[in-house]
Parts: sequence; C-alpha cells; structure tokens
Amino acid sequence: MTGIRQICYGEKDPVKNRRMSRLVGWPGNGFMKPGGAAMKQFSVKTQARSQMIDITAQVRSILRESRVESGICFVFVPHTTAAVTINENADPDVPRDILAQLDKTIPLRGDYLHSEGNSAAHIKASLFGASETVLVEGGSLVLGTWQSIFFCEFDGPRTRQVCVRIVPGG
Ligand code: ZN
Repeated sequence: MTGIRQICYGEKDPVKNRRMSRLVGWPGNGFMKPGGAAMKQFSVKTQARSQMIDITAQVRSILRESRVESGICFVFVPHTTAAVTINENADPDVPRDILAQLDKTIPLRGDYLHSEGNSAAHIKASLFGASETVLVEGGSLVLGTWQSIFFCEFDGPRTRQVCVRIVPGG
C-alpha cells in the first residue's frame, strides 16, 4: 500500500498529528434518526490493549427505553481495531482464554506491512466482526443463560463507541 495514506479511526493521523474522528457531527450519546428509526450510541472506556467488556446491560437499557416488544437489535462498533461478539458471561476465564489464544494465533509482532503497527488488532477485529444481531421477544433480548454481548478491544486503551439500533417488527 505504498503511497497510500491509511488512517484508522481513533489513531493519530501521521500527517496532521491529531486524533481522527469520523464520529464528528454525530450527537454524543444521543439519538440519530436515519429513516425515522432511532439509533443510540454509548461510549466504552477500555483499560488494556486487549479486553472483552460485557455491554449487555447497556444494550438492555437501550432496548427498554425503545419500548419495542418484538424485533431485532443490532449492535455495531464503528472501529477497525475493535469488535463485538457474544460469548459466555459466567466464567471470566472464558474471555481471558479467548484473548490469550488470539494473541498466540495472531501475534502482536509479525510479518505485517501496515505502518501503524497494529495489524494484529485489525486482523482480530475482522475475525470477530463489527456487529452482532440479537432477536427481541417480549421486550427482552433473546440470549442464552450464559450468553453476554462483549465489546472487544484489540488496540486499547481507548474510548470507543457502540451503536445500537432496535428495529421493531417481525
Ligand atoms: Zn492501523
């Protein structure tokens, strides 16, 4: 990618030496109404390079406010070095093991070309994906007993954003 300047959200722009923010213009922690339906967003402050943070309570709170009884809940993270996933919430060793094994499979240093030095985080983010979909029934998220929605940080610590949209119907 020589000659092409690549900028990742939240990283320092090497030319202008400032934090990039594609979220400029978005209402902070408020509603957007694209197409008439409400989207909400909230911030997550991560404390480590790699971290999985349970965000189920925040998503449930947004669902409650929406008063939607039946439909679909989309959770999306607008980042290239973070992701969202659903996994076990009961044993904290599960996220620990996931992150530890990811580090073995995708080491921090490797035969990477990306000049910002965080290729491992980009790869992990793509493996996990930027969104999850959860069914909504009876005003509740349809999650298994041991399931939680986790924000996945792979290049922290940073302040991140999570977007949630509850779509009624179905
Ligand atoms: Zn990067």
